[in-house]
Amino acid sequence: MEQVLFDYTRQGGAGLSCTAQAWAKTPAPLNPSQKQALKARAAELLKAKNAVLVAHFYVDGDLQDLALETGGCVSDSLEMARFGRDHEASTLVVAGVRFMGESAKILSPEKRVLMPDLDATCSLDLGCPADQFAAFCDAHPDRTVVVYANTSAAVKARADWMVTSSCALEIVSALKAEGKKILWAPDRHLGRYIEEQTGADMLMWAGDCIVHNEFKGLELQLLREQHPEAKILVHPESPQSVVALADVVGSTSALIKAVVEGEAQEYIVATDNGILHRMRQLAPTKTLIEAPTAGSSATCKSCAHCPWMAMNGLQGLVDCLERGLPEIEIDEATRVKALGCIERMLDFTAKSKAAAAGLVPGIGAA
Ligand code: SF4
Repeated sequence: MEQVLFDYTRQGGAGLSCTAQAWAKTPAPLNPSQKQALKARAAELLKAKNAVLVAHFYVDGDLQDLALETGGCVSDSLEMARFGRDHEASTLVVAGVRFMGESAKILSPEKRVLMPDLDATCSLDLGCPADQFAAFCDAHPDRTVVVYANTSAAVKARADWMVTSSCALEIVSALKAEGKKILWAPDRHLGRYIEEQTGADMLMWAGDCIVHNEFKGLELQLLREQHPEAKILVHPESPQSVVALADVVGSTSALIKAVVEGEAQEYIVATDNGILHRMRQLAPTKTLIEAPTAGSSATCKSCAHCPWMAMNGLQGLVDCLERGLPEIEIDEATRVKALGCIERMLDFTAKSKAAAAGLVPGIGAA
């Protein structure tokens, strides 16, 4: 495997990329009556503004519940993109991170796309600046450019394909069958996993997710020894040593499906712990154990929860609905260029028998 390394980590700066700043902006805990009042107000505003709430599995459980209670959706980023595009509401409120809001706007330019806080970003997006990425692509014009959803609109504008973890394996397999060589960005762990599974020729950008990168193979092995009957569920943004121990490797939707349909009683879950909320709702009798991030090499920047996802809260949702801000805006030239790679993915998955067979009511695409 060829690998190109970039100094992508800008955690220590004073800008958005500082996780400490993200944690400082996370909402304070609410008591039950505050929650109830804010949920009621948000539901009222969603209706009054002809808006729908599109939430990711990693955000606060109250936001997930509200999305489902008000006719919105809780899903992975692939299903969020599809749902927002197809819904008749004139305003989409995206509870997640910025690239999800951008994807919604790229697909639905006629709709207003609001987010509780536009500073909610992603280490993969931050680690792949558009100018450096364009130079990387320019240096390898013979390769088909495949980018993960977790990238800016400007990076998508340079790509041939966008993929999510739900459909990446299938799309790269199809490209390999056509004899294509791949330029992959930005998640190096997901890229390596796809390369191993498909045998495709992949040139990698070297980004990672600060949450999944913290899971530890050795500690996971020790945990497995304490729970020998447990199945290990791993998101492929995790390091190789963690993926190697997995019984199931897959997207957030695929991991939820594994818990709901699995025969085992216990599951060790290696992805953002925000997912446990939906897993517990859909499989209340199962025992769920968080995979370890601790260990001698842990920096505990994340402790299995994304600081940018954690910035989403009920008060922020109410505020953004009341103000009609902040709104995602993308210049039209970038939007039109970025649209191509997303539509290619959506067309592919719409035709894909495997994707259709993987649809699970109440969960989304597996
Ligand atoms: S969990 Fe990781 S991949 Fe997901 S938004 Fe946070 S930093 Fe990005």
